[in-house]
Amino acid sequence: MTPILSLSAADLEKWLEDHDAPAYRRRQVWSWLARGATSFDAMRDLPKALRTALAAAFDVSSLRPIATSAADRGLTTKTLFELEGGHSVEAVVMRYADRSTLCISSQAGCPIGCPFCATGKFPFGRNLKSHEIVEQAVDAQRVLASEGRRLSHVVFMGMGEPMANYSAVIESVRRLADPELLGISPRRIVVSTSGLIPRIAELAEEKVPVTLAISLHAARDELRDVLVPINRKYPVRELVDAAQAYGARTGRRVSYEWVMLAGVNDTERDARELGVLLKGRNAHVNLIPFNPVEDTPFHAPQRSSIRTFKEQVQAQGLNVTVRDTRGREADAACGQLHERVMRGKVAVS
Ligand code: SAH
Ligand code: SF4
Repeated sequence: MTPILSLSAADLEKWLEDHDAPAYRRRQVWSWLARGATSFDAMRDLPKALRTALAAAFDVSSLRPIATSAADRGLTTKTLFELEGGHSVEAVVMRYADRSTLCISSQAGCPIGCPFCATGKFPFGRNLKSHEIVEQAVDAQRVLASEGRRLSHVVFMGMGEPMANYSAVIESVRRLADPELLGISPRRIVVSTSGLIPRIAELAEEKVPVTLAISLHAARDELRDVLVPINRKYPVRELVDAAQAYGARTGRRVSYEWVMLAGVNDTERDARELGVLLKGRNAHVNLIPFNPVEDTPFHAPQRSSIRTFKEQVQAQGLNVTVRDTRGREADAACGQLHERVMRGKVAVS
């Protein structure tokens, strides 16, 4: 059956009109979805006949949850969803005192193939459709609403390269931000990219000023060519120029992500090169301790090396934070629950 969120507002209103229902019913349906309704029958302010007709024509969601895991005493939960056609993607909800953040997937697998990333290790599956991205957020909102919480932030840091599925991602961002659906301000949405320069330039013109995160991980081409293979096409200096132009155009400070890999990109030389690359730029550096992935040659550095690296970067005048390691036990980094399910280490419910 057709997933209801695969219809645009205009298409759903047309369907309603064809079924002798007023257009404003569309807003009511969306509002119920945003409040976590799991069936059309639960949408109590719609006439019974309309609820029945909707249920006969549409699914509330196309996603089928097939595995879950929890960590941080339940503050982090992760769901693996099966998509129509059989691929699967994961979404992670992280609960904090003042916010609830969803880490969302934009592709089943990823075509970029960074050697430290669990997602990049499986063959690329397919792009998600915009409604499949939005449905992850609607599901998270449902879970959070049942706990008296509200989804406040969304980060595109799950499986996939959002800029390689550009139009569906932009469409989903518009939906997430739509006050009639989830109403999450674009500034609370982070799009993380390995660096597809033409798409960054395009994004700057969309009038959806999301926060841009660049997965930098190395400041010299020779190393970044290996860690983030798309660098061979879009070299690091040009990438930073494009990202900063995005920041200037949107007024949003750009974030640069740096996965800390022991002995690979955590040396004094790396800190110096990062300082030179970003000096004088309106930028924020986020150091991410590597979350170990089986069958990769990489290791997380000692805490003391992370601290030293941070101080070395800071000493060059940059803003630096170290990301907390939320969700390690939940396999919450990028494709890791998916990987464990594939390897048969996690039971599928
Ligand atoms: N493809 C996009 C978005 C998804 S990955 C991108 O690469 O930006 C989100 C972030 O998680 C990226 O910064 C990525 O480098 C990081 N990441 C991937 N695998 C990781 C791991 N095993 N440990 C820590 N961070 C990881
Ligand atoms: Fe893809 Fe991002 Fe993983 Fe690289 S880090 S393989 S771009 S998901």
